[in-house]
Amino acid sequence: MSRTMKALVSYAPYDNRYEDFPVPEIGKGELLLKVKGCGICAGDVKSYHGGIRIWGTSEENRYIEAPCIGGHEFYGEIVEKAEDVTGYEVGEVITAEQVIPCGECKFCREGKYWMCTRSAVFGFKQYANGGFAEYVKIDKNCIKHRIPEGFTQEQAVLVEPIACGMHALERADIKHSDVVVIAGLGAIGLSMVNIASLYLPGMVIGIDVKENRLAMGKEFGADVVLNPAECNVAEEIMKLTDGLGCDVYVEASGSPGSVTQGMDALKNLGRYVQMGVFAKEVQADWNVIGDGKELTIIGSHLSALTYPAVIKGIQKGLIRTEGLISHRFKLEDWEEAFETAEKAEDAVKVMLVPQE
Ligand SMILES: [Zn+2]
Ligand SMILES: [Zn+2]
Repeated sequence: MSRTMKALVSYAPYDNRYEDFPVPEIGKGELLLKVKGCGICAGDVKSYHGGIRIWGTSEENRYIEAPCIGGHEFYGEIVEKAEDVTGYEVGEVITAEQVIPCGECKFCREGKYWMCTRSAVFGFKQYANGGFAEYVKIDKNCIKHRIPEGFTQEQAVLVEPIACGMHALERADIKHSDVVVIAGLGAIGLSMVNIASLYLPGMVIGIDVKENRLAMGKEFGADVVLNPAECNVAEEIMKLTDGLGCDVYVEASGSPGSVTQGMDALKNLGRYVQMGVFAKEVQADWNVIGDGKELTIIGSHLSALTYPAVIKGIQKGLIRTEGLISHRFKLEDWEEAFETAEKAEDAVKVMLVPQE
């Protein structure tokens, strides 16, 4: 194997370079994967545009440790393994969860590794270089999962985003009588519509401003879809629920207007789940939460313990994946891929393939 590889390296906002990069050397407990595909996350696009959650306001408070290789929605084939690694063999196809936990902090010790205080998400640190490359190193602390035989490239790449959506729904604690609203029908939102409908609740409502996504929402199990560009969503939800409102509102769009829309649409004692990421601060009337409706506000971060359920759900055909990967590009065509992910009318999720 040649010891250099092609990689997409992030140096600064608007400065991504497709270039030669050393193939990672593996140490104790580590694996080397030949990357077979890597999805582009909204976070990767926001990083490219200098997103403040990633680049901070100064060198001191930035999350990203540039230059580093982006991408956390990857899977690949094990091509090298350290002698002390047991349970995995060269030639197996695996994915690793997007977060590398420290294994030592209070949250890690309590098994809540996704909230690790010293964690790294692949693609944002130099010791956690990501999957926009021909090879990726799997740290000893990584949480690894086998990709079953028969999974398509698209299905394997979708495991990470769907796992994040599944965690948000687990946080929502859906009951069979609930009216569940999913606001924002990107790949994760559509998967949440799908998974929410598997709980067999009273109703699943999907919200998006794009007609093609609303049509997909119906295919993925929404009973009703609403377009906030064409109607007052909160009013429509009131009409559908005898003036009471929805029980669960999962915010997955990252659009500030979706927050007040959710608070207006929720029933007394409703549950609001935040999983989308906002590019700017949100304003809302917080009286609705306390003095008004006694709402429960719930956060959702990464994917917790949901990867195995997602893999099983895809394998059993319960979790749908058709159409969620709308575009596929070679890694060298990353610029077009990023632009497609950001701007194309029909983009859902875009994936990069470093080598065939
Ligand atoms: Zn992601
Ligand atoms: Zn930790």
